[in-house]
Amino acid sequence: MLIESAYYTGSYPTESKCPKNSLPEYAFIGRSNVGKSSLINMLCDRKGLAKVSGTPGKTQLLNFFEINKSWYIVDLPGYGYARISKTKRREWEKMIQSYLKKRQTLVCAFVLIDSNVKPQQIDLEFINWMGEMHVPFALVFTKTDRKKKGLDVEVNIAEFKKALLENWEELPPVFETSSVLHSGRSEMLTFIEQTNAKLIHE
Ligand code: GDP
Repeated sequence: MLIESAYYTGSYPTESKCPKNSLPEYAFIGRSNVGKSSLINMLCDRKGLAKVSGTPGKTQLLNFFEINKSWYIVDLPGYGYARISKTKRREWEKMIQSYLKKRQTLVCAFVLIDSNVKPQQIDLEFINWMGEMHVPFALVFTKTDRKKKGLDVEVNIAEFKKALLENWEELPPVFETSSVLHSGRSEMLTFIEQTNAKLIHE
């Protein structure tokens, strides 16, 4: 899929305040610093579309981007900030839960996982929570280009999949990406294109 247009269209505090769009939406979510803004910019081929490394905890809104006038990227506030109050955490849960549960036009949520670290409990818990809510999702491993002594992204990815299979019978679609190398871009865009095409034929 070629990206012909990509525009920021607005930010909303709750699902009920989001515009009643009819186009399919793909949500992006993950731990803070997972590489979400970089991935969105890489997919859209626009450097400053999603702001990279915004102040942690500040971006507590549902951010919408209209792509090719035919689908939306919805950038969801991340989880796992170290310094966040209980009240803020509860607000985040309510917002995310309402969006993921109620949004009729949500087609797939991409859950981003940092391939530079061993499987994290917080990611596994979030994925299991999505499963309980019956939200369709795919996994996106980020930063697969990193090469450091003692770091093996393939081992981390394999361990993550294994941990998931303790609770799940099968794995969701999985993408391995690097915003630095632009890898995984065409796979993700093809997945979105094919999913959109299926919706039209339904
Ligand atoms: P966000 O907080 O999830 O939106 O994450 P950002 O996109 O701001 O990225 C967090 C940090 O990881 C920044 O320092 C990025 O430069 C770095 N980063 C993001 N994606 C990649 C990647 O694919 N490879 C590498 N090596 N670094 C990345």
